[in-house]
Amino acid sequence: MEKNNIIFGPINSRRFGMSLGIDLSPSTKQCNFDCLYCELAPMATVDAQSEVVEIPTIISELKKHLSQSIDVITLTANGEPTLYPYLSELIDEIDKIKNTTQTLILTNSATLIEEKVFNALLKLDQVKLSLDAISNDVFKKIDRPHENININDVVDRVKEFSKIYKGKLFIEILFVHGLNDTKQEVEKLNNVLLDINCERIDLGTIDRPPAYPVVGISYKELHEVSLIFDSSLPIHIASRVHAEPYNAYYSDEEILNTLDKRPLTMDDINLLFDTDSMARLKNLIDKQKVVKKVVGNLEFLIPHANEKRKLKK
Ligand code: SF4
Repeated sequence: MEKNNIIFGPINSRRFGMSLGIDLSPSTKQCNFDCLYCELAPMATVDAQSEVVEIPTIISELKKHLSQSIDVITLTANGEPTLYPYLSELIDEIDKIKNTTQTLILTNSATLIEEKVFNALLKLDQVKLSLDAISNDVFKKIDRPHENININDVVDRVKEFSKIYKGKLFIEILFVHGLNDTKQEVEKLNNVLLDINCERIDLGTIDRPPAYPVVGISYKELHEVSLIFDSSLPIHIASRVHAEPYNAYYSDEEILNTLDKRPLTMDDINLLFDTDSMARLKNLIDKQKVVKKVVGNLEFLIPHANEKRKLKK
């Protein structure tokens, strides 16, 4: 097994900071899902890794790349990182050398139904769980899971995890046109999310060439979807690689209402507002009617009146 493809980066991620990646399946895709939108090639699902990297190999590679400029060590994979059979032991070994660097995993959530994985993830500083659908038929169409993975069981475990986890929990939903972007499915996602404690909910869509012929939704549609979610939820529109500027007019009142319903980052606003609306926003910021609030690595704009009530865990 090649050693030089286990560690990648550092990558400066807007959402998580300077991230050094560990690929727990460097030689081939090993995943319990075969998502339509996967940026890796389609492949039959598995429920266990057959090609496993030894912990000492990972740690010795990590030591070579770890430096003070790294904010987060991200456990990821060509596939699903929680299929790595020694995950708990690996986290313990990373903890011995990581110092103040945070640990993060990006997972599709399905293995949370296994006690061993659930407990291993509790030890991490940050966890990002994907949750694309609540209805079984939509889940099966988008994520194409390994046999016997039941979305209801996964959702129950995600809720349970969020209640006892002490670190920073992020949820990510990736929207595929015509599948999970329907009002009905978004409302189901909303109801579940109201019962999950998390730092932030990232809404995204397809930004890179997908494994199967599916398409994402536009930035405008993503913004419209975001408005269906309850305003108490810490929603963040994360996808913008191919975002088309919307250049809409917003009056002062509309700016305050929009930010009240859904706090936005400056990047979002650059995509949504026209030049005059940007000037009006600047004026509102100068008058402190709109203020900045930092959540994780992102800075959101919210009406001053709502500063206390928005974006709480
Ligand atoms: S869970 Fe991730 S790696 Fe696995 S198929 Fe889906 S997108 Fe690809």
